[in-house]
Amino acid sequence: MSGNNMSRNDVKRAKTGANSRLLHESVVGVLVPLTSLDKHEYHVKILEMFNKAMPFFPELDVVYLGITDDHHCKACADNRNNLIKYNLNDEPKFTTIFHELGHLVTPLIGGPKNSEPFASLIAFSRIPTELIDEDHIPYLGTPKFPKSEWPKLCLKALEFRKTNRNYIQKFMEIANIRGFPYED
Ligand SMILES: [Zn+2]
Repeated sequence: MSGNNMSRNDVKRAKTGANSRLLHESVVGVLVPLTSLDKHEYHVKILEMFNKAMPFFPELDVVYLGITDDHHCKACADNRNNLIKYNLNDEPKFTTIFHELGHLVTPLIGGPKNSEPFASLIAFSRIPTELIDEDHIPYLGTPKFPKSEWPKLCLKALEFRKTNRNYIQKFMEIANIRGFPYED
């Protein structure tokens, strides 16, 4: 998979290439690791995991990946800079990686700004069952269905959103999750 030895020009081309999105719609985006990752013990692991997740977000041309020491989050996404900062105090999880990529893709598909549930719905509508490595969907809870059903439920909620406002509540209903739905 592309990525680790990108020159600046390669990155620039990937970002600004004429009609890049039109011409390379099915081409996997470029993952650019920042120097903060260089000597971290999970360095190789997280790059492998991101490279596995990137093809599910073909809208993204470039994703910059670095580390944060912020203890309040597992990771955070910065849309303006296509940047994900991951807190690597614990082993990286696909669930978190897909959620963060969901944040980056949100503005490109007309999603609501800074919405945690929306990022999770996008993430879990795309994640392969075998990569779901948590027992819950971030900010949404645990559907009362096998994990193999989770993407279908997320897709239904996203479909519902096209013509309705209360899509998160809808998701909680169809996923049979009790409790208060997360505010969008
Ligand atoms: Zn988030």
